[in-house]
Amino acid sequence: MKPLVLYNTRTRSKDVFEPIEAGHARVYTCGPTVYAPQHIGNLRSQLLADLLKRALLAQGYRVTHVINITDVGHLTDDADAGEDKMERAAAERGKTAAEIAAQYTEQWLRDREAVGCLAPEVLCRATEHIAEQIALVETLERKGFSYRIDDGIYFDTSKFDRYAEFARLDLDAQLGAGRIGDVAGKRNPADFALWKFAAPDVRRQQEWDSPWGRGFPGWHIECSAMSRRYLGDQFDIHTGGVDHIGVHHTNEIAQSECADGVHPWVRFWIHNEFLNFRGEKMAKSTGNLCVLDDLIDRGIAPLAFRYFSLQAHYRQQQTFTDESIESAATGYERLVAHAAELREAGGECDASKLEPLRERFWGAVRDDLNAPRALAVAWEAVRSEGLDAAERWALLGEFDAFLGLDLQSAAPRAQSGESDPRIDGLLAEREAARARRDFAESDRIRDLLADEGIVIEDTPDGPRWRRG
Ligand code: AMP
Ligand code: ZN
Repeated sequence: MKPLVLYNTRTRSKDVFEPIEAGHARVYTCGPTVYAPQHIGNLRSQLLADLLKRALLAQGYRVTHVINITDVGHLTDDADAGEDKMERAAAERGKTAAEIAAQYTEQWLRDREAVGCLAPEVLCRATEHIAEQIALVETLERKGFSYRIDDGIYFDTSKFDRYAEFARLDLDAQLGAGRIGDVAGKRNPADFALWKFAAPDVRRQQEWDSPWGRGFPGWHIECSAMSRRYLGDQFDIHTGGVDHIGVHHTNEIAQSECADGVHPWVRFWIHNEFLNFRGEKMAKSTGNLCVLDDLIDRGIAPLAFRYFSLQAHYRQQQTFTDESIESAATGYERLVAHAAELREAGGECDASKLEPLRERFWGAVRDDLNAPRALAVAWEAVRSEGLDAAERWALLGEFDAFLGLDLQSAAPRAQSGESDPRIDGLLAEREAARARRDFAESDRIRDLLADEGIVIEDTPDGPRWRRG
């Protein structure tokens, strides 16, 4: 088997993947902070992890994939100042932090499944691993890497020689910029909270007893503690968005390498670039976002969003616009229609004829998960005149193990071959009602047509109808 090559942020080069334990790949992905809906930019980070997992499985590895849920400790300011995002959302919405976390965890699980992400082997919540986090902070304290100030227990980054290495940080510049003002008493600008004390005058919903008094864990410690619990002191691959390189992942490395005396703690670091929207990064904090349900409401299938994501390499920024998602949806529907037709065809397959395209497809996958190139090869297979239907289907069915577009069973959306001026007119009226957000009227028209046995399907090219 030819090796899988991955771009490794740690070495800034494309490295040949080899797991620590033969045949077994251990992977950790930073999951969602569940104080608000996860948007389709967040989903991009899940899709990268999913493509990675599918590539590892195709290479024959057993995969243990761990994803965390951040349900405490992530503050509005990454530098340990500001409010806890969970507590703030709970106060604003008049709900408990646990209710907020449950609501958005469920939404995230549903959405990631809808876009074809395989379930992780372990899904772990920060609030359910407080003991592990406290134990890790105790280790760091015992080894002399922490100090105590009024605000909490902090990690002393000056004690870790390699602190700046991973993200190529310029710590002198940080000093000059005076970020030390964030939290009074910090020794170095980059120092970060391991454990925060609950303010004496504020009763938090989420606080626990600890050797240092009541409080809650800093944001970074959960990933070090939970990955260690489920994957051991050292493991193979860690994934997340590029925004995590400079602070969150740098701090995870500091904690884990200092607590366990290992280096490198993680061999491969894989980071996805941003999904942009209206000229900037899609982000919860700015409200510049779009969620999967917005697409579904517009008649765009969740897997059409996956198809859209496959069109860009994970290390490229990708821009989300109405036009780009609609054209991806059309492309996806066409691919599904071809797959359905080819599936039915049956017939003999000459395996030797499949090799060139197979080699090019899996070659693209092995070359740092090059999804756009793999997708192009899949289309070549569909169109290839040298192959009969059974051969094309053999390829497409196999390729879907990586693409994850449900080509094995997705049904093409029915095209209405018919036209009826009255029904077409009613449909147009329904569209107009939806555009002015008069949903009572649009539902009335839908029900009227349903009574006549007419089924409406919303597609990226507008609604279609057929007789049910
Ligand atoms: P959060 O819920 O904010 O902790 O983010 C969850 C994951 O989504 C992290 O790995 C982020 O790096 C990633 N992420 C956030 N915004 C974007 C975006 N616009 N494009 C791609 N990934 C993102
Ligand atoms: Zn993390």
